[in-house]
Amino acid sequence: ATAVQITDLGKTYPGATGPALTGVSLSVAPGEIVVLLGLSGSGKSTLLRHINGLETPSTGSVVSLGHDVASLKGRALRELRGRVGFIFQQFELVGPLTVLENVLTGALSTLGGPRVGLFMYPKSLREKALGHLDRVGLLERAYQRADTLSGGQQQRVAIARALMQDPDILLADEPVASLDPESSSQVMALIREIAAERGLTVVCSLHQVDLALSWGDRIVGLRAGEVVLDMTTENLTREQ
Ligand code: ADP
Ligand code: ADP
Repeated sequence: ATAVQITDLGKTYPGATGPALTGVSLSVAPGEIVVLLGLSGSGKSTLLRHINGLETPSTGSVVSLGHDVASLKGRALRELRGRVGFIFQQFELVGPLTVLENVLTGALSTLGGPRVGLFMYPKSLREKALGHLDRVGLLERAYQRADTLSGGQQQRVAIARALMQDPDILLADEPVASLDPESSSQVMALIREIAAERGLTVVCSLHQVDLALSWGDRIVGLRAGEVVLDMTTENLTREQ
C-alpha cells in the first residue's frame, strides 16, 4: 500500500511562462517521514497542494490514500482533505478567535457548516480539541486570543487544529520558516513525536539542508520543478 502515489505530475499555472512542476514521480509509504527540499520557487508548495487536491494536475496523476485526487469532487474531496492535514508557514490562524476556537475550526468540514461560535460545537469536539491542545503543551492558553501567542505557539495550535479530523497524512509547508531556531526545533520535534504516536505519514517542505538531514527519513530534492534527488537520509549522510 502507498499513502501517496504521484506519477509523472506536471503543473503549469494559468498564464505562467513555464511549468511549476515537470515529470514528478514519487511514492510515499504509510508512516514515512519525507522532506521536500528545495529553494523558494522550486515547486514544493505546488507539489504539497496537489496531494490534498488544492491544485489539479496539468498532466500525470496524484493518488492519495487510494483516491485519484483529480477525480474527486464535493463531499469526497472534503473527506479526503479531512484525512490529509495541512500546516502552513504563516500558521493561518484566525487571530481574533481564541486558541480553542481555532483548533475547533479543524473539525468544520465534517460539521459541514460555515464558521460557528464556540457554543455551537458539541461537547465531545470541544473535549477532543482540549486534548490536542494539551498534547501540544498549550492547554493553559485555550481561551486566549490566538494572535497573542508567539509564532512557535501558533504553529503548535495549527498542529492541534490539523489533528481534529484524525488525518492519516500530515502535509507541512515550510512549517518553521518564520520561527526562531529554538521554536523551530520544538515544532519539528513535536511533528515527529505526534507522527510516531499516530502512525502519520508526513510530507514536509523545508529549504534548510541541515534541518532536512537531521529531521527527515527521506529527502526528495526539487529544483525548478523537477525531482533531482530522492534518497534516505541514512544513505545520504553515509555518502558524505
Ligand atoms: P512560497 O515560496 O513560500 O511557496 P510564495 O511567496 O511563492 O510562497 O507564494 C505565496 C502565494 O502566492 C501562494 O499562494 C502561491 O500559490 C502564490 N503565488 C506564488 N507565485 C505566484 C505567481 N507567479 N502568480 C500567482 N500567484 C503566485
Ligand atoms: P516553493 O514552494 O518551492 O517556493 P512554489 O510551488 O510556491 O515553490 O512555486 C513554484 C513556481 O510556481 C514558482 O515559479 C511560483 O512563482 C509559481 N507559482 C506558484 N503558485 C502560483 C500560482 N498560483 N500562479 C502562478 N504561478 C505560481
